[in-house]
Amino acid sequence: MDKQRKAQVVFHLTGRHPPGAAPDAMLAGLRPALLAGYRRLEELRYDFPLVLVRDGGESVLSLTAVVDFALRTAAPPGQSGEALRKRALMIERDVRRRVAAGEQGTLLELWELAAGSIAPAGDASFRVDADKARGALPVDGEVVDCNAALPARFVRHAWSAVQQRKARAAQARIGELVIRLGNIVRADYARSDAALTQPALQASFGSAHRGMFDFEAMSRLLSRGGPRGGLGERRRQRVEDALAVLRTQRFFPPARGAGDGDVHGFEFATTEAALAAFRERLPELARLLKALQVATLEAEGGYVEDIHDALFGAYDARSVTPQDLEFFPDYLVCLEAGNAGSHAHLTEALSCGVPLKVLVHADDLLEESVLGQGRFAFGLRSAQLASAAMSLDDVFVLQSAASNLLQLRARVQRGLLHAGPALFSIYAAPEGGALPGYLQAAAAMQSRAFPAFSYDPGAGPDLASRFSLENNPQPGQDWPVERLAYADPDLQAVSEEVAFTFADFALCDTRYAGHFEAVPRAAWGDGMRPVQDWLAQPSRESVLDVPYVLVVDEADLLCRLVVDERLMRATVRCREAWHRLQELGGIQDSRVEKLLAREREAWEEAHRREAAIASPSAQPAAADAASPSAAAVAPVPAAAVEAEPARNPDEPYIETIRCSTCNECTQVNPRMFAYNDNKQAYIADLKAGTYKQLVEAAESCQVSIIHPGKPWDPDEPGMAELLERAKPFL
Ligand code: SF4
Repeated sequence: MDKQRKAQVVFHLTGRHPPGAAPDAMLAGLRPALLAGYRRLEELRYDFPLVLVRDGGESVLSLTAVVDFALRTAAPPGQSGEALRKRALMIERDVRRRVAAGEQGTLLELWELAAGSIAPAGDASFRVDADKARGALPVDGEVVDCNAALPARFVRHAWSAVQQRKARAAQARIGELVIRLGNIVRADYARSDAALTQPALQASFGSAHRGMFDFEAMSRLLSRGGPRGGLGERRRQRVEDALAVLRTQRFFPPARGAGDGDVHGFEFATTEAALAAFRERLPELARLLKALQVATLEAEGGYVEDIHDALFGAYDARSVTPQDLEFFPDYLVCLEAGNAGSHAHLTEALSCGVPLKVLVHADDLLEESVLGQGRFAFGLRSAQLASAAMSLDDVFVLQSAASNLLQLRARVQRGLLHAGPALFSIYAAPEGGALPGYLQAAAAMQSRAFPAFSYDPGAGPDLASRFSLENNPQPGQDWPVERLAYADPDLQAVSEEVAFTFADFALCDTRYAGHFEAVPRAAWGDGMRPVQDWLAQPSRESVLDVPYVLVVDEADLLCRLVVDERLMRATVRCREAWHRLQELGGIQDSRVEKLLAREREAWEEAHRREAAIASPSAQPAAADAASPSAAAVAPVPAAAVEAEPARNPDEPYIETIRCSTCNECTQVNPRMFAYNDNKQAYIADLKAGTYKQLVEAAESCQVSIIHPGKPWDPDEPGMAELLERAKPFL
């Protein structure tokens, strides 16, 4: 074995660097090769930053989508709108840069700042176009980037939108009951003796007519009119009591205009504080529930004293059901990284049936285990918490990296609307990392270190309907694989498939620099294997092989880093954890595969018998056909093949049935492409984007099932080139 290879093997097995080596300095400026294209992230148009929409139907939108909408509205198609488009995109880029640099503000504020700072001196038309595009922006709201503050801001914003909706519904119901009960009380008074006294009659007439009547005579006359027929004493008391509770309740702000007054708050710093507040308010909540029910019965004339007196007489805090709680605001707890408290406490809080919505912000997936140097406890706390919460059965659970929140906004909203408790476990890297927050979070999800999934108890009775592996790239694979194109030392174009593994993710965290050793190109040898290939070897065919990750330096030159044994053990555990999630999600489910094998065997056996009965003379041939290889190539019954509808080649379409849910197209334009109930893509709204986006999606679709057809707007810029690019997919 040559000296260089020996040094690599020794490092891999021991994790010890040569004397004098400085791993931190060695890793500075390096990043996984697959991230080479994202060095200037703020120059790219992608999901971030987000606009937390104020008072909008869609509570969160990407800046890109908002600007695209404005351009479709404000910029005329073709050449005449080109200048406006270019200028608006310049402003958008500047807004993106500002937000990445930590600037805060609403979209309109940042737009103004950006337009003012980049407008060329003396170019009045720039200002006109900037204002025109600004006027066409469909929404406004805080613009937020993918950073450590995002999980709390995102969940808080979505929670507020849901609570406002609940408050509006509650205000409408309470307001209507107050009016109807008020009418009952007023009508009762109008028929009472008190209402027929001279002063009361006089007060009920306008001052302009007071002199025209003798109110004393009128009072005598009306008082002789027979029995009053008003509310009985018990009923009046009941109605007035319910009215008083409805008017003084503190769970919802008063409708329209009035201030929040003494309304309860529903956001807490800890689950303990939230639970204490819930328990303290429970009797008050029961009183309001009782008042609502009594008021409804009274307003509809359905209160039967013989039945309802007994029922409501015993109504107290113990009578409140989980369904009753759906009407009320939920309790939000945002636990910042490092402040999540013990899992036992959190699980206990989630198990008491209180409508808690808990955000746990994870920012460190590579914690050292309590066993010290022995192993990493990567993502263990988050994984344990999520599975403990799922085992409670009625808790909604969502785990995701912050970079994926826009795609999961509907899921987040569903969790917030869930009648019971919900847990949102979200990873966002701490500030000051080697990579921008978005890349760090995306790398966590891509590498399976923090996969996205959700568990929705309201989605159905079984795990198949409740559990979903959300948006993870290439969910059927151990690691997502992408093609990397580069030039070799002879400047020849080379491309190879590169997997993004847990070791690549660890490389993004400088604390773990010690687990890598750089190998100069001259020392690259046969004994080096990419991490995924090294792991795939049946039993480490050669102990002298070492795993490496492919990285690029600041000049985008390729380099290999050997990974030590300890980090490889963590990579194996990450893969095992991913396999468990895959099984939960029905992907490569070992039980299903066993069942299928059994069923296949039974089917083949039955088929053999049928063939033998139908053609006794052909028994030898039938026996041949029964061999596994023959069965494997048996034609598929025609009925089992889903017929593709006849297509007009000019019409764009997706072969939805073949979609592998890789998210590429939905990332290009989430309004143009959407998923059906099967999580497979289809063209939702062709006119929500451009032909260029359709062609880009076709190019990025990993299974080449997007067919762009013919363009619908021949004036779209760059059409000749787009038509050329579309040809392979027609
Ligand atoms: S259509 Fe293609 S690009 Fe879109 S999600 Fe399916 S596989 Fe991915």
